[in-house]
Amino acid sequence: MENRPTTSNFIRNIVIQDLESGKHKEIITRFPPEPNGYLHIGHAKSIVLNFELADEFNGTTNLRFDDTNPTKEEVEYVKSIKEDVQWLGFEWDNLYFASDYFEEMYNRALLLIKKGKAYVCDLCPEEIREYRGTLTEAGKESPYRNRSVEENLDLFQRMRNGEFKEGERVLRAKIDMTSPNLNMRDPVIYRIVHESHHNTGDKWCIYPMYDYAHPLEDAIEDITHSICTMEFEDHRPLYDWVVRECEMESQPQQIEFARLNLTNTVMSKRKLKQLVDNGVVDGWDDPRMPTIAGLRRKGYTPEAIRNFCREIGVAKNQSVVDTQMLEHFIREDLHAKAPRTMAVLRPLKVVITNYPEGQVEMLDAENNPDDESMGMRQIPFSREIYIEQEDFMENPPKKYFRLFPGNEVRLKHAYFIKCNEVIKDDEGNVVELHCTYDPETKSGSGFTGRKVKGTLHWVDANNAMSAEFRLYEPLILDEEQEEDETFLDQINPNSLEILQGFVEENMKDAKPEDKFQLFRHGYFNVDTHYTTEEKLVFNRIVSLRSSFKL
Ligand code: ATP
Ligand code: MG
Repeated sequence: MENRPTTSNFIRNIVIQDLESGKHKEIITRFPPEPNGYLHIGHAKSIVLNFELADEFNGTTNLRFDDTNPTKEEVEYVKSIKEDVQWLGFEWDNLYFASDYFEEMYNRALLLIKKGKAYVCDLCPEEIREYRGTLTEAGKESPYRNRSVEENLDLFQRMRNGEFKEGERVLRAKIDMTSPNLNMRDPVIYRIVHESHHNTGDKWCIYPMYDYAHPLEDAIEDITHSICTMEFEDHRPLYDWVVRECEMESQPQQIEFARLNLTNTVMSKRKLKQLVDNGVVDGWDDPRMPTIAGLRRKGYTPEAIRNFCREIGVAKNQSVVDTQMLEHFIREDLHAKAPRTMAVLRPLKVVITNYPEGQVEMLDAENNPDDESMGMRQIPFSREIYIEQEDFMENPPKKYFRLFPGNEVRLKHAYFIKCNEVIKDDEGNVVELHCTYDPETKSGSGFTGRKVKGTLHWVDANNAMSAEFRLYEPLILDEEQEEDETFLDQINPNSLEILQGFVEENMKDAKPEDKFQLFRHGYFNVDTHYTTEEKLVFNRIVSLRSSFKL
């Protein structure tokens, strides 16, 4: 991977200390997604952090599927997560499934029961909630809290055997119902779920809860630094309790950092799934989605996403990052890489009346004026061309330097043309322009006779290829997403605009995921789903300019 400047952060400092003090000889991190949806840009932050930290100090990173909940997890998600991590440019040292540890987790639960640290509770979910108390009120002990070890072992065995219905019984850690930390008030650590699991099938009908399973997964894998987001800060005492009371040899350290939030973006798999399920978007990889698959399909590169993740840094305070910052990094990456080309998105035909009928000439154009090594191409020019509808006005305001009756403009890579006549249909819409060109003004000929203020892009009408252009606006109108459920009311009805236009014919060999800078329009990516042999379909990744400054 490319050289990167090492930016310091508090987690990296902890790692350096732990290596220097000899607490650890080698660090082991993990990226632990639950396979209940596709990865999003927030996950990328965690991936970059975990993999690059281990990489920098010659450590190890595991990809671990945290698949302890059979109801929401699917093999499709496992596959997509692996693809996305690799596409971002990372290789895991080990691939694990938390569900492979179910037997070990069960045995550790038996240990807790034998130590008098866990009990089977018959309260229903509502009662458990009621007994838990509140931040200002201590909880009440469950009447089942003091069952004997024998009875607990028997009931837990029977839970595993499938003798009870969902919600009828749970296994709880026996900690402290008066703790000021609600997470420590005898949390549920196993529940009954009669559903098939994507990995273990019907072998189990009891499943460990996140707060019990996660520390064990980390300890089993000898994770040294278990990095998670801030909402787990209050769970850390429970994390440490589980590692200690289950007598795990390895003692991972949980460290929390602020999750990534982006303006005009929902960022939770649960909400993203709703967008997919309600048909608001046409799949997890819709270019409007903040998923890795969506960003990729829109045209983002792994480099741009990695650079963005490094730039936002790692801290504990919550903030919302401007989406324009993400856009900055794709512009920066493609500015150097993407060949320039011309396309007309909303075509208006121009007939050059003094250009010989049937003649076609080839004009030279550089593929990237900033990089000679990207070479030249030839663009056909003839009597009929298309320009952009918005580059003509019949009655222009002051300072309009594009085409209007009597005005002369430069055609990029070609000649000056002057508008003489405007052809309209019965309703008065402009359908065609008649212009003349000046053969003296050919681009590159050194012509200095006179200057014009406007330069327009164009394509040759007889040789251009039809193409579809998909332009995107933010999917969510709300700039900042609150933790509410109203985001479905905040959907931007104009998040996608589809246009039918033309591109230069020399783009005929473009392949899905090829990226171009379309002169004056921005950076575009050839779409992977809609492009056919007959027609190229382009997603606009980003426009050319923004006021955003790093
Ligand atoms: P979601 O609510 O989107 O499902 P999650 O935290 O439940 O997110 P997991 O699959 O459990 O998703 O997350 C895998 C890892 O990615 C965790 O370590 C989690 O902390 C991290 N992660 C998830 N969302 C973000 C985010 N927005 N910013 C940074 N890290 C994140
Ligand atoms: Mg989750």
